[in-house]
Amino acid sequence: MKDCIFCKIISGEISSNFEYEDENMVIIKDINPQAKIHLLLIPKKHFSNLMSLTEEETKIISLCLNKLSHIYLDLGLEKGFRIVCNSGVDARQSVYHLHIHILGGEVLSDKMG
Ligand code: AMP
Ligand code: ZN
Repeated sequence: MKDCIFCKIISGEISSNFEYEDENMVIIKDINPQAKIHLLLIPKKHFSNLMSLTEEETKIISLCLNKLSHIYLDLGLEKGFRIVCNSGVDARQSVYHLHIHILGGEVLSDKMG
């Protein structure tokens, strides 16, 4: 989608190093890390967030999470990780192309917010 920063990263219009890529998604490092390891799992298909998902979007997220469950070791997350998916204004979502934050590489705060 025009003017979407994550679509531009996925298309290569904005250069970025992919930690992982397959037909459904890319994983990049967050530019403003909130943990020792802070990655963003970004589906290649543009959709906004977890609000009012279509069946196809639901399937894509499922495939992405399934893949993460098999590649977490390669990402340096052998001792565990947390995923966060900010959706909408109250969650302070800032980029409206669905992305899943993956946090780890250290023992995380026990506060979720
Ligand atoms: P959210 O607030 O959940 O929408 O998260 C958006 C995230 O995207 C933030 O953690 C930003 O640091 C991150 N971000 C924004 N632009 C880039 C970029 N060009 N490369 C990597 N991460 C980015
Ligand atoms: Zn997009």
